[in-house]
Amino acid sequence: MSEGFSLETPFRDPFKLSELRFGSGPLKVALVAGLHGTELTGVHALNLVAGALRMSRVQGQVVLIPIVNAHGVEQGTKRWPFDDRDINRAFPGDPSGSAVERIAYALLASTQAEVCVDVHSGSAAIRELPQVRVPLSGAELGLARSMQLPMLWRRAGDRLEATGLVGAWRERGVSAMHVVGGRAGTLDVGHARTLAHGLLRLLHHLKVLKHAVADPAEALVDTTRQGVRYHYSDVGGFWVPEVRVGDRVEPGHLLGAVTEVVGGQRVEAVRAERAGIVMSMRAYPVVHARELLVRVAEAIS
Ligand SMILES: [Zn+2]
Repeated sequence: MSEGFSLETPFRDPFKLSELRFGSGPLKVALVAGLHGTELTGVHALNLVAGALRMSRVQGQVVLIPIVNAHGVEQGTKRWPFDDRDINRAFPGDPSGSAVERIAYALLASTQAEVCVDVHSGSAAIRELPQVRVPLSGAELGLARSMQLPMLWRRAGDRLEATGLVGAWRERGVSAMHVVGGRAGTLDVGHARTLAHGLLRLLHHLKVLKHAVADPAEALVDTTRQGVRYHYSDVGGFWVPEVRVGDRVEPGHLLGAVTEVVGGQRVEAVRAERAGIVMSMRAYPVVHARELLVRVAEAIS
């Protein structure tokens, strides 16, 4: 492990941007997680990838940065805890700016690779199926498909804001992907493993790794905005799910119910309207009206 960048902080140990580098030569791939301090499933996923890379011959150079916002991880905050700023809104950063701007600048400098991936989780209320989000066309599409994650979401203008890391990478002409899995504030070990396998398939596809990870038993759901059905609550209450992310559902399948917080009487049943995979599920049960409960995705070619 090396420290690519260090920053003095008041009354604390210095902040260090810790990098794991494998192989040699030009930097081919950069994998980043922990830009948001509460999103820990990606941290574990990258550590699993590091374990596999330690056991392998690596062609070209790979850098892993499993935790960017280390102080946020320590304090359980998504943003940088000193000034509550989102590092993922601070790109391209500034070497003489605020702490967050300097971290963003240093991170971009450490990840000058051909292919870059930034791993996130859902919010604290929503658990996300491991998925990769890419634009409707372009180099990222083939790379994303090689990962064979349970879901690929093609989205118009996905994360193109250059103040975000993926957008900043794309501004530099890099093939960059946004990977999401699990839920903020928790470690979803199974989802971390799924994400790690996807990242290792990508490294194999890019000929960084010789050995392939077997493809998953089920085909991935490749979809667009038209294929994703959002279910919101009509009323406030206590959300009791009947399915989990990754479950396949048919039209009419009971996804869950909103019940009275006290007494448990069902006030709203939520049923699938189309066949597909449960890609997002409300994990925090207390819900207000018009909040997201479930997203179901169907394949759209
Ligand atoms: Zn995030």
